[in-house]
Amino acid sequence: MSDCLFCKIISGEIPSNKVYEDEICYAFYDISPMAPTHFLVIPKVHFASAAEVTEETAPVIGHIYMVIAKLAKEMGFADGFRVVTNCGEIAGQTVHHIHFHVLSGKQLGSFN
Ligand code: 5GP
Ligand code: ZN
Repeated sequence: MSDCLFCKIISGEIPSNKVYEDEICYAFYDISPMAPTHFLVIPKVHFASAAEVTEETAPVIGHIYMVIAKLAKEMGFADGFRVVTNCGEIAGQTVHHIHFHVLSGKQLGSFN
């Protein structure tokens, strides 16, 4: 999608600090980290949010969780981390390309 910040990060038009990449997803550090480890995992296919997952795109979500588990082991935080997907403005979603925040490295508080 030409006007999407995260599509521009995937294409390299906007620089990012890459954590991982394969043919299905791209992971990069959040520009405004909320924890010592805070990166985002996004599908290379553009869709806006968790409210738009379809039968066709559902396998992409499973793949992303597999990648997160692999990175957690490789990066040494598999003992404790949080995965967050904000959906819609009421939940605080600011970038409308679905993304999975991965947070670790400190005691994470409760949320509402
Ligand atoms: P949301 O608020 O939509 O759940 O999360 C969007 C996230 O994207 C925020 O945590 C924000 O810090 C991050 N972000 C926004 N713009 C950029 C950018 O240009 N580069 C990177 N690396 N992260 C960004
Ligand atoms: Zn996009």
